[in-house]
Amino acid sequence: MTSNAPYDLLLRGGHVICPASKINGVMDVAIKDGRIAAVQSDILPASAKEVIDVRGKLVLPGMIDTHAHVYRYVSGRFGLEADMVGVHSGVTTVIDQGGPSCMTIPGFQHFVADKAKTRVYAFMSSYLVGGLEGHLYPNLYSPECINIDATVRATNANRNIVRGIKGHAEIGGFARWGIKVLQMSAEIGRQTDLPLYVHFGQLWGLPKSGANGEDADTILERVIPELRPGDILAHPFTRHPGGFVNREGQVHEVIRAALDRGLKVDVGHGSHFSYRLARKALDAGIVPDTLGADMHGYNTYVPPPPGMPLEHDDDEAHPFIGQAKFSLTQAMSSMLALGLSIEQIVPMVTTNAAAMIRVSDEIGSLKPGIVADVSVLSDQRGRFILRDNEKNQVVAERLLQPAFCLREGVRYDANAAILPQAEAA
Ligand SMILES: [Zn+2]
Repeated sequence: MTSNAPYDLLLRGGHVICPASKINGVMDVAIKDGRIAAVQSDILPASAKEVIDVRGKLVLPGMIDTHAHVYRYVSGRFGLEADMVGVHSGVTTVIDQGGPSCMTIPGFQHFVADKAKTRVYAFMSSYLVGGLEGHLYPNLYSPECINIDATVRATNANRNIVRGIKGHAEIGGFARWGIKVLQMSAEIGRQTDLPLYVHFGQLWGLPKSGANGEDADTILERVIPELRPGDILAHPFTRHPGGFVNREGQVHEVIRAALDRGLKVDVGHGSHFSYRLARKALDAGIVPDTLGADMHGYNTYVPPPPGMPLEHDDDEAHPFIGQAKFSLTQAMSSMLALGLSIEQIVPMVTTNAAAMIRVSDEIGSLKPGIVADVSVLSDQRGRFILRDNEKNQVVAERLLQPAFCLREGVRYDANAAILPQAEAA
């Protein structure tokens, strides 16, 4: 360690997995001026001002959470603090899914993205009001509450942070308005030439008039023709009606062709996730492209924002339940427990996620010269219990937990209160 050492920091002896550079093995990572300087074996410790021993740990490109909700305060109880789910959970980039709208995007930029240590992007809400209270009040999401022109304009004016459009295709909305709302979301995607991220699985309760001839199991096959390559099917493993598995327990046949046509799949884990249905979809050969933790104030236990009433009239209409500790890394452990390999999972939070928002040249790899966003995870072997909100349990033999991350070369320890503890089987 010398003061005139060429490198600022050396992560020494970790297991580096960087799909973009085709590296998968024990390597050292050297950082200088907030950028990756070198990734190779046996870099001399004396060549760095600071050395961190990461033997036994996984060293990944800074992880990207493709499904976050971080429009804190403005989205009510729904939005979490960006750095809590971001750098303090080992995640260097978060993508808010549909919190800001054409009316509220400047506030998102100023109060959230500019203030966070975490890199923050957003998928613009299709709706004028954005994701208030996690879309608690369905009547705010009718066709009359969408303005395509205004949303296209606001998106184009904020393309530095807006990387896609958020929409929904689920039975509560279809029972009220049919496919109209989704078609308007798709039109915003076309006019902005950005990917549309489509939430599948029931979100809203049915109106008093019932399903009005709609059937949750027909939604996927009617929506897919409206979508373009690069658009994203989200919540494939949802326990709510209208996901990838129909009520007969069969995986929808239209999905394979959709993926062959270039549509993408994001897990959007959160409280939707069912191990039972994930098993069926994975057995049918569906491997998600990206992961997405989908944590928000309804499924993650955090104290409510000051002054926020704890209950609303429509609470019983909201299908989200369960307030647990969770993280993107726990979602990775979930995928491992289902039998996916670490080599399949790492791209979901790095290369594939960067490609989804078209920033592969800037983040998602450890190539020399790129900004030094790095996630370091512990990698325990044993028998650990993981649970979902259907009360399914699986025993994982491998548990990943965030240790720390570097955001542009600056270290943040993974000390968020929402991080789950290991639960031995
Ligand atoms: Zn969500």
